[in-house]
Amino acid sequence: MELKLGRTGLAIPMEVRCVLNLHPSVRTKYYFDDKKKAILVYKYPAEECLFCSGKQQIICFKRFYICTSCIQSLPLLRVFLERIERERANKVKTKTLTAKRKEALDRLHQAMKENPETSQKKLAEILGFLHAWVSKLTRNIIDS
Ligand SMILES: [Zn+2]
Repeated sequence: MELKLGRTGLAIPMEVRCVLNLHPSVRTKYYFDDKKKAILVYKYPAEECLFCSGKQQIICFKRFYICTSCIQSLPLLRVFLERIERERANKVKTKTLTAKRKEALDRLHQAMKENPETSQKKLAEILGFLHAWVSKLTRNIIDS
């Protein structure tokens, strides 16, 4: 769409207003892009927090409004994201449990059921496993 710039300012055509839902009373903000030689028109953002829609103690950060209490809860968000990351890593680990390990675990389970009083060392002897391997597998059972 080609428009001529008027003397008094830029009029936003009706079609554009309709598409963007810009009523005549809507406040707008202008930004200039020197590189692209462009004028960017933004709807004036409501001065409320991006996260909680609160209107108290608002600060503007990169064109978004965020309230102080949401900013203060960002470390919690970080903790939450770290937990998700850890859980995801654990899932991957569980998936990579090899068939061999799974079979060993099954045999160990069986041997433990059959010999409930037997020590890990004895179990290792029965199964023909190394003691360290049995103790590692046992930890696995407790963890899961
Ligand atoms: Zn907030």
